[in-house]
Amino acid sequence: MDICERSPAYVRAIAPYQPGKPISELAREMGLDEAKIIKLASNENPLGLSPRARDAIEAAVDDLARYPDGNAFELKAALSKHYGVEPANIVIGNGSNDLLELATGAFLTPGATTVYARHAFAVYPLATQSRGGRGIVVPTRDYCHDLDKMAEAIGPETRIVFIANPNNPTGTYIPAKDIEAFLGKVPEDVVVVLDEAYNEYLPHELRADSVRWLKSHRNLIITRTFSKAYGLAGLRVGYGLMDPAVADLLNRLRQPFNVNSLALAAATAALGDQEFVARSYALNRAGMAQIEAGFHELGLKWIPSVGNFISFELPKKAGASTAGAVYANLLKQGVIVRPVAGYEMPDHLRVTIGLFDENKQFLAALKNAMAA
Ligand SMILES: *Cc1c(COP(=O)(O)O)cnc(C)c1O
Repeated sequence: MDICERSPAYVRAIAPYQPGKPISELAREMGLDEAKIIKLASNENPLGLSPRARDAIEAAVDDLARYPDGNAFELKAALSKHYGVEPANIVIGNGSNDLLELATGAFLTPGATTVYARHAFAVYPLATQSRGGRGIVVPTRDYCHDLDKMAEAIGPETRIVFIANPNNPTGTYIPAKDIEAFLGKVPEDVVVVLDEAYNEYLPHELRADSVRWLKSHRNLIITRTFSKAYGLAGLRVGYGLMDPAVADLLNRLRQPFNVNSLALAAATAALGDQEFVARSYALNRAGMAQIEAGFHELGLKWIPSVGNFISFELPKKAGASTAGAVYANLLKQGVIVRPVAGYEMPDHLRVTIGLFDENKQFLAALKNAMAA
């Protein structure tokens, strides 16, 4: 027997995650100058990182010969203060992606099911499949999660429901009262993972006090990240907030040193720089308006977004999608956006909101690409 056939069929069936194209790769492929390439493909913070996080990283370099604090004492203390929860409620992850994996590891066995929306974040099917689980995909309404249908989709084998709020790549949002009502309906032995990776980009009036729901729902896991508004995507650090007994399960599964010491130091400092987060938020709102105005001028349709990205629809030509051709043409012009055909959105592309000049260049390049 071939050695690879010893790997479970559900592992061999995994379709790998398709990341945004790295700047260095496009530069190599097209012979372009890296400095002239604009990457608006992975919902990264165009402001970079907080200067306080940078200082913390520099200071932490001196201790790199030592293992990190596997219990993340300082980061948990800072998060505990920030959210008014106990350190025992917190699990730190190598990106919030790690939390999604830990949740499936803790609750799925082969044959179990998870429930998530069509067009929802790609890691939910991946994390499900890696444990031999089966995803139940629930149709959306105007690209938005349909929580009534999701509640109906829960069956006896269901162990986890994933909700992304806002969702990536649609940018759609579910009001707090609807999530609260949903939590009231879900059986208490089904975990609800509420993925709030873009929470810091939500307009304040839309933010749910989701942390409060932990008190009444032991089956709730809230995940957040330092990759987006905090500008630390390259360091990989995120966290989950949950019931202490659930946190204890996830902590048994995680690698003893799953988050490196530079990431821990940077995240602790970044959390203390809310002025940077506020600046990132304001820049994003202005950039979103700028890009929407540009789409309007180009006669394009888009899905209204409350994240730091927006998916827009390219008109078909002779009944065929033009999104792939526009994506390729943008690459030639040194602009990287994200195809979302893998999300069953073959006519859309997703663009991350950048700096004012990046947005402007993207819109000019898009105009060229559509005329080509
Ligand atoms: C980016 C993203 C994440 C996680 O990113 P990490 O870098 O692993 O923290 C989680 N959920 C959604 C919806 C995302 O878009």
